Amino acid sequence: MGALIPLRADLGLGDGYHSAQVDVDVRLNTNESPYPPPQGWRDDLRDLISSVPFHRYPDRSARALREALAELHDVRPDQVFVANGSNEVLQALLLAYGGPGRTAATFEPTYALHSHIAHVTATHVVEGERRDDFTLDLDAVASLLAEHRPEITFLCSPNNPTGRAEPEDAVRAVIEAAPGLVVVDEAYAQFASWSALSCVSDEAPVVVVRTFSKTWSMAAARLGYLVAPASVVEGLERVILPYHLDAVKQAAGRLALRYRAEMEARVKTLVDERRRLAAALAGLPVETWPSEANFILFRPRDRGGDEVWQALVDRSVLVRNCSSWPRLGGCLRVTVGTPEENDAFLHALSEVLSS
Ligand code: PMP
Repeated sequence: MGALIPLRADLGLGDGYHSAQVDVDVRLNTNESPYPPPQGWRDDLRDLISSVPFHRYPDRSARALREALAELHDVRPDQVFVANGSNEVLQALLLAYGGPGRTAATFEPTYALHSHIAHVTATHVVEGERRDDFTLDLDAVASLLAEHRPEITFLCSPNNPTGRAEPEDAVRAVIEAAPGLVVVDEAYAQFASWSALSCVSDEAPVVVVRTFSKTWSMAAARLGYLVAPASVVEGLERVILPYHLDAVKQAAGRLALRYRAEMEARVKTLVDERRRLAAALAGLPVETWPSEANFILFRPRDRGGDEVWQALVDRSVLVRNCSSWPRLGGCLRVTVGTPEENDAFLHALSEVLSS
């Protein structure tokens, strides 16, 4: 019998990426939609599941879903790749275009999974810095890209956890300066006013990653996709497992797209609520940053982040505690919830900050 062997030595990654799950009434910590998908979608899906040939493998290329997404974004189906959540899309990108001997660039603070998945796929990571207000310093970006020549450059717009969207001219400048693929993670794009989708073509090394987890209210389904040059999609098909996307999920995504107007109405409600939350936070002793996502980053001015986080939990409100994350000392991130949840959060926060 052999021995239990140690973990790969290069996986010295600590705990990975988790959000504390605490039993509370108001959960505003993981940027999910507070609204479920429409009942019509549920009914359609139930009917469809009853006719899924479960003894057969699903359509390996998810053709119908990719066609529906291509129609939504006015691109071709061969420019669309779908996977189990946008995290798996990011993983496929790194498996195919990162890996040993290759480099990915991030601009911190940003979505922690970009560098995390890069490490897991043995891709070298170079971390650029943002300015103190979390905007990109384009001169610093250009010199980092020139020095390290990364195969993959990550942007995240709107950026998690800061909430800021990258301005169009900044994204175009990064695309101009980057020597390889530019991956724009747009998990929250429908909450923002501009999308990099207009930069995608077969000729440009630009990839836009989207998810059904937020605006489509389908976090439980684990479905994400990207829009990219057809040659990039072909590359991803080389690394993804056969039949990776089950038949129910393919149907769930395709059916969801029939309820686009309902999705847009939910997004509008959340954007209105985000504005209301931002205005209320402006009246409290916290620092905030402009958000174009479904969450707001804030830093209590006179109190520690851990202390405020715990005091909110004590009042049955859970937000994301970012206060120990690099470059985010003292910061908390609140997801926009229903008006009632947002009221409960604001009430609890005012009470905590005035006590
Ligand atoms: N990208 C960003 C920026 C995110 O915030 C998230 C979710 N936290 C994801 C990707 C992953 O989303 P999913 O895997 O649920 O599609």
